[in-house]
Amino acid sequence: MLHVKANDQVLVLAGKDRGKTGRVLQVLSDRKRAVIERINMIYRHTRQNPQQNVQGGILEKEAPVALSNLQVICRECNQASRVGYSRLSDGKKVRICKKCGGTIDK
Ligand SMILES: [Zn+2]
Repeated sequence: MLHVKANDQVLVLAGKDRGKTGRVLQVLSDRKRAVIERINMIYRHTRQNPQQNVQGGILEKEAPVALSNLQVICRECNQASRVGYSRLSDGKKVRICKKCGGTIDK
């Protein structure tokens, strides 16, 4: 089980957007990376190509960030925290904030 899931608020620990927070759009579990809204933006310059009717310009998109560089922000204490795991009485596994002990998965 990965410590980051889609729609989490996360803190970026490394890279050019270090210290920023954002919402996880997608987790690429096989690559151990996540795409975060407006974080690690890359700009691809595309050339105009009349034959293929492609408009030239700058394409802006999020590049995936390694999961090891992300910390989940706990909604209970509003801090970026390491994640622990706990099993509920119904057998469901949930993520726990290591700072306040609150449940991250509601
Ligand atoms: Zn917490």
